[in-house]
Amino acid sequence: MGDVAGIVWLVGAGPGDPKLLTLRGRECIERAEVVVYDRLVSPALLQYASQDAELIYVGKAVGREAMTQVEINALLRQFSLRGKKVCRLKGGDPFVFGRGGEEAEVLADVGVPFEIVPGVTSVTAAPAGAGIPVTDRRIASSFAAVTGHGMDDTDKVQWDALATAVDTIVVLMGVENLSKIAAAIMDGGRSPDTPAAVVHWGATPRQKTLAGTLSTIAEKVHSVGLNAPAVFVVGDVVNLRAKLQWIEEKPLFGTRVLVTRAESQAEDLAGKLEAVGAEAVRLPLIKTVPPENPKPLDEAVGRACCGGC
Ligand code: SAH
Repeated sequence: MGDVAGIVWLVGAGPGDPKLLTLRGRECIERAEVVVYDRLVSPALLQYASQDAELIYVGKAVGREAMTQVEINALLRQFSLRGKKVCRLKGGDPFVFGRGGEEAEVLADVGVPFEIVPGVTSVTAAPAGAGIPVTDRRIASSFAAVTGHGMDDTDKVQWDALATAVDTIVVLMGVENLSKIAAAIMDGGRSPDTPAAVVHWGATPRQKTLAGTLSTIAEKVHSVGLNAPAVFVVGDVVNLRAKLQWIEEKPLFGTRVLVTRAESQAEDLAGKLEAVGAEAVRLPLIKTVPPENPKPLDEAVGRACCGGC
């Protein structure tokens, strides 16, 4: 231990469905001695970590503040400088609104090797989950991904310029500011009738989609109370959803099923349930073990044998 330089794998965990992790991402979790993970990362991915790996949660928890970026950077630096193999697991893609660039920079500064393992980003995966392709040869030949986080003086997005510059606009971190964002896009010259949708927990069994127009969407979302994580999609492509929606059409969509089978059998059933849209919660309550006293069983088997032959 500590004889070779450590490494940090900055791994994209995908939009929330554990099966949307890349093969390389899984390999990194398996090899890591330390896994540092965020709030939007599916806890199911931690099953790939080795028994001895240290698992460190750095997201926001109830009653506790999230670890600051400075603290996270320090953590990555310390472990890797001690020679550890660290998997930094981040939601979606690590280089899309994930501060992955800042973390990699800290490692570059101290000469720690790192690798970027891209992930399936919610920018495209959440709309896709709702049946909305961000481009379509017939109606959309461009899209932009922007943050809706800072709709105040600190806002760096040029909504005016953006509004009509691309066909599809995908806004992340925007649900809280939805009415301001929609207004900014309309002020920029986009018609109030432009189709718009909000996709909450897209590409997962918990997905919820609301569709409307730029002028109606904020009110709709407000009345239903959809919150983060969600993407806001603006553009004619939203209309394709009427025909292409698929996750929310699955027969068991919207149900949560507790799989209590023994661990060795649970995966098979859970997989089948997930394929038809259910959220399968694995909670093995049954275990097959040899009897403490084998005598009655031996006798029964013995009797059955004798009776048969
Ligand atoms: N790096 C991530 C984005 C991190 S910012 C990525 O590439 O996806 C966090 C924001 O991502 C959330 O506020 C939300 O806008 C969006 N997001 C992440 N997962 C999502 C999901 N499953 N459905 C909808 N939005 C999601």
